[in-house]
Amino acid sequence: MTSDDFSSARHTPRRDLESSSAATVSAGPGPGPAPADLLRRLRARGAADPVTHVERVPARAGVPAPWPSWASAELRAAFTRRGVVAPWQHQAEAANLAYEGQHVIVATGTASGKSLAYQLPALATLLADPRATVLYLAPTKALAADQLRAVAALELEGVRPACYDGDTPRTEREWIRRHSRFVLTNPDMLHHGILPGHAQWSGFLRRLAYVVIDECHTYRGVFGSHVAHVLRRLRRQCARFGATPVFVLASATSGDPATAAGRLTGLPVTAVTEDASPRGGVTFALWEPPLLPPDSSAASQVPPQATGEHDELHQVRRSALRETADLLADTVAEGVRTLAFVRSRKGAEVVAANARRALDDAVPGLGDRVAAYRGGYLREERRELERALLHGDLLGLASTNALELGVDLVGLDAVLICGYPGTRASLWQQAGRAGRSGQEALAVLVARDDPLDTYLVHHPEAIFGAPVEATVLDPANPYVLAPQLACAAVEAPLTPADLVLFGEGAKEAVDELVAAGALRQRPTGWYWRHWERPEVDLRGEGGAPVAVVESSTGRLLGTVDGSSSHFLLHSGAVYLHQGVSYVVDQLDLADGCALVRAEEPDWSTHARDVTDLSVVSVRSYVDAGPVGMFLGEVDVTSQVVSYQRRRIATGEVIDTRPLDLPSRELRTVAVWFTLSPQSLALAGVQPADVPGALHAAEHAAIGLLPLMATCDRWDIGGLSTALHPDTEAPTVFVYDGHPGGAGFAERAYGTAAAWLRATRDAIAECGCEAGCPSCVQSPKCGNGNNPLSKPDAIRVLDVVLTNLPD
Ligand SMILES: [Zn+2]
Ligand SMILES: [Zn+2]
Repeated sequence: MTSDDFSSARHTPRRDLESSSAATVSAGPGPGPAPADLLRRLRARGAADPVTHVERVPARAGVPAPWPSWASAELRAAFTRRGVVAPWQHQAEAANLAYEGQHVIVATGTASGKSLAYQLPALATLLADPRATVLYLAPTKALAADQLRAVAALELEGVRPACYDGDTPRTEREWIRRHSRFVLTNPDMLHHGILPGHAQWSGFLRRLAYVVIDECHTYRGVFGSHVAHVLRRLRRQCARFGATPVFVLASATSGDPATAAGRLTGLPVTAVTEDASPRGGVTFALWEPPLLPPDSSAASQVPPQATGEHDELHQVRRSALRETADLLADTVAEGVRTLAFVRSRKGAEVVAANARRALDDAVPGLGDRVAAYRGGYLREERRELERALLHGDLLGLASTNALELGVDLVGLDAVLICGYPGTRASLWQQAGRAGRSGQEALAVLVARDDPLDTYLVHHPEAIFGAPVEATVLDPANPYVLAPQLACAAVEAPLTPADLVLFGEGAKEAVDELVAAGALRQRPTGWYWRHWERPEVDLRGEGGAPVAVVESSTGRLLGTVDGSSSHFLLHSGAVYLHQGVSYVVDQLDLADGCALVRAEEPDWSTHARDVTDLSVVSVRSYVDAGPVGMFLGEVDVTSQVVSYQRRRIATGEVIDTRPLDLPSRELRTVAVWFTLSPQSLALAGVQPADVPGALHAAEHAAIGLLPLMATCDRWDIGGLSTALHPDTEAPTVFVYDGHPGGAGFAERAYGTAAAWLRATRDAIAECGCEAGCPSCVQSPKCGNGNNPLSKPDAIRVLDVVLTNLPD
């Protein structure tokens, strides 16, 4: 996460001051060719035009607003000294709402200056009331440190800003609790340190005026649900001391930010979404690599017999990595300074190596102008790469997102994005690297063979129009609620009023804690019965986490949720940790650890499982004649049985290897739809084709869900069957892959018509004949992508969509 959030109306061009925290590399050599000309030459390369859409994102002049009347002369002078002439309109609007006491979320683009929106009311209050305090929460220590520097640089009397996190020396902690009036921390420290130690913090909490929650879109899924309850625990402690702080949240642009912020805080929140900051113009092209003919070399390199994959369909697109490498070579040959974003470190190296080779073939030595940039480099090495790019010795860089974390490279002529990075926020963050001040830049999104990427390159409105992707979380998840209520009970006995605060499901969770002997009910409330505090990990979800240990050194690299461990850490799995690749030698389930060694094979691994599902209860449903749409609890039993190894550069399957792992049970939330057999027959789906039709629709629906909710397709699972014993009908299930649910299935249910419409379009618009990874094939299918019927999947979805109300 970069700290690109210091925008405001300034005396000098914005980019020069934007990054106070990171090295800024700005334009060195002269301007390259105009983006439109460059794009014309790039797309003229092949036989077919791979560009599906070109969007001219025009330059925008900022809309400044006057300083709020309540901002004192001292505060204005402090900002002016830092180069801020006046706030932008959205900053002023959010600041005014917060100062009036309304909870507010400012959800605007990258580098739109969300910091000023909360700094203004928070600091004005600290200056006006010498007793008031502010608590600032960031998802990472680095971001909190950036914010600390920004606030400290204002040199305001008596604010005494300080970071309070795991790195804060014990000797300084007491001073901070007593004297700092602007404490910067993270949700983990709030959960593990500040709330359990509320007695020591009573002075601070009693006077708490504002709680700032920065980058709040990162609090999603199970982690987000935990953070939601940590915030309720904070509100509860404040209330005990008589304080009712105002919440100010900052988020990337998303669909329905007010609802997401309301769920996170449990409070009514007003959204400010109109971005009034200036930006440079970008020519943004959507690029779909061509389908390879079924008999082409890439597809026939490995005969089906050798892969053990007789059932795989062999029509594939040219890989996004190869396409990106070619584009990088072409832009570098044009003298254009280009940054290519690639998801994995190995992928970045493949792109750089292929581009170098192509350039050397054309002009020996030209390949030296391209490099790979990745996490794990030493600081000096990174600075050397930056310097080379600044001076034009280097023209092309292929990078993982590691770059977003370390340095701030701006002023590039072109950015290539290899595969949709998962969220619109990341997409714009990457595209935002292009453009020198006042000059047009080129950005190209190269689609991978994945249903979501396919959909996006054919539906530019989903990228450039109003956002539909929402940050989802589910505070009612009993697997989150019960441990959080236990933590709250340790901090102070629970009362009936607290059940209202913690919301839906709280009473049931308390009853269960009583039944389990964890809480005791007395006339004054529910009391925690044990000496020791409950151990609750905000990122965990019930299942014991599995430790990832490097065998040669004994070093602990990190932990993986128990629920994902069979998928990610089975023996033979290639496991990526901060961009570095490891191979798992052994998964020891009894000891809860996986032994790994650093190695970079040129393949990736893909686990497969077999799944069984039963319906526990129905929460909500829509009866749409021959079609039924349901939301409810389900029990999923799954077993990881094998994994595939695939060549990274081409995606070709090397082999499939069996695994011997126990099955796992998951109680979670699912969305499902049923269709009557008659409606399917009427739509022309032959009975023998029903399984393939449903299966194909299920795969594509899972692939498209990240369009509606900020999740990864790996966060969700699915099952389809021509006759399910619980529904007694042809059924497609899509479920949250986390115990108790994470909000994804619920969001899918709430936006079912839009979600399935996008799914249908993604399948119908894919140029392949019989289905490919861009539409109905899934990389994690437990059945080897068999059976699948692309045309019948469209018929199935048409039946659903004609009957389902919008
Ligand atoms: Zn296809
Ligand atoms: Zn499947």
